[in-house]
Amino acid sequence: MTNAERIAQLEKELADAKAALELEAMQKQIATLTATVERLVTDRGRGYNTNKYGRNGRHRSNSRSRTRVNENKGLCYYHDTFGEKARKCHQPCNYSGN
Ligand SMILES: [Zn+2]
Repeated sequence: MTNAERIAQLEKELADAKAALELEAMQKQIATLTATVERLVTDRGRGYNTNKYGRNGRHRSNSRSRTRVNENKGLCYYHDTFGEKARKCHQPCNYSGN
């Protein structure tokens, strides 16, 4: 084997090793990104349900939540949606099952 061939082979092995390292690093990055995206999607899904009415009720004037309450027969969003399984209560609320 000539020196040129030996150098060429070493360079190829080096490139392969580098590619393998980069692949490993990329796989770790992808795993991290996947976990992050999953967490974001989960958080957004959870936040959407919680904020849809709760945030409006808090930030808007009373007339809006009064309308909402009338629609719900006096129940808050949580008790209207989950009934006795509701873990939260948003006043005003006429639910008396506690
Ligand atoms: Zn309630």
